[in-house]
Amino acid sequence: MNKEKLKASVVGEIDARRHQLSELSLKIHSSPELGFHEVKAAAWLTQYLEENGFSIERGICGLPTAFKGCYGRGKPAIAILAEYDALPDLGHACGHNLIAGSAVGAGVASKLAIDQFGGSILVIGTPAEELHGGKIIMADRGAFDNLDVAMMVHPGPFDTAATQALACQVLEVEFFGKAAHASAKPEAGINALEAMLNSFTAINSLRQHIKDKARIHGIITDGGEAANIVPAHSAGNFVVRTEDDAYLEKLKQRVINCFIGAATASGARLEYRWTDIHYAPLLNNLTLAQLFRQNMQSLGRKVNLSDASQAFGSTDMGNVSQLVPSIHAGVAIAPEEVPLHSTQFAEATASEAGIQGLLDAAKALAMTVVDLIASPEIVIKAKEEFGQNK
Ligand SMILES: [Zn+2]
Ligand SMILES: [Zn+2]
Repeated sequence: MNKEKLKASVVGEIDARRHQLSELSLKIHSSPELGFHEVKAAAWLTQYLEENGFSIERGICGLPTAFKGCYGRGKPAIAILAEYDALPDLGHACGHNLIAGSAVGAGVASKLAIDQFGGSILVIGTPAEELHGGKIIMADRGAFDNLDVAMMVHPGPFDTAATQALACQVLEVEFFGKAAHASAKPEAGINALEAMLNSFTAINSLRQHIKDKARIHGIITDGGEAANIVPAHSAGNFVVRTEDDAYLEKLKQRVINCFIGAATASGARLEYRWTDIHYAPLLNNLTLAQLFRQNMQSLGRKVNLSDASQAFGSTDMGNVSQLVPSIHAGVAIAPEEVPLHSTQFAEATASEAGIQGLLDAAKALAMTVVDLIASPEIVIKAKEEFGQNK
């Protein structure tokens, strides 16, 4: 079968599974599970893959809800990544139920390409994308070694082949002062809350003079016990994001200087800790992105090559993209004004448009697998591009 006929077959395969894939995705939507607790979702997804001829390893990398499904053997080894964690209170307001459905749909349809040309297709289940960066842990534990390509599609307001995502690290800060009567003996106190407030002021000033896409944002998690006591303790969490890792290191130090200055001014003692979760910036492989775009356009969608939203978050797919030629594409399932992580978006991820997005994402992914498996020289080109950009 030639490449175009094979693409028509994988598309037909996904259409034939429309009902199963939509049911799987809606089931995950109606039982939202938080990161590392996606027990039902992981069970349903692995069961579906197993029933369709994939060999399954459950609980990989020491993470009970991570998994690897594999069909075929040897090279090229093409991976499609699934996410399936939900958000507290909001449920599937990031649409990971659709990511899961499109990943297993694309994986199962790609079997046709593997049967004809060889190589292997993997569906890798990656838990806890939100907050915990599951893929960061999995990357450290070797889950993405020996892959030639890694791909996934995230739902959103735009069809795009390459998303921008920022490097990101989380900071935990505490100030230790001294309690005293706020009115009768204020001179005896050291005000830990003022130290925190001055830190915010210093960061707000710093923000005027940082690079365009950099972000610094934070909250206060402890601001004292009572208004008539000088606060002896304050605490906060901050996130620092930048376009690249080199600038992240520089900006992190400048942010810390804001806290050091506030500690000196107030006399409070500063303690801080950068958490281990470091989201790397997303390195989009344009060789892959262009293929994906052509395939998505063949389904009648108008796809931007790069992110039109100018809305920059961070994703743990960034860490994968630093190891393997990758794409993190976007499929439109909601109007432009509906933001991710909102109740409206949670509704969209169970809507007709959501299911259509799932199916189109699965089709475009599977067609891209056909391109890669049938033309190994494209895999070599993607790897060359990756080598040049690293
Ligand atoms: Zn999210
Ligand atoms: Zn997400």
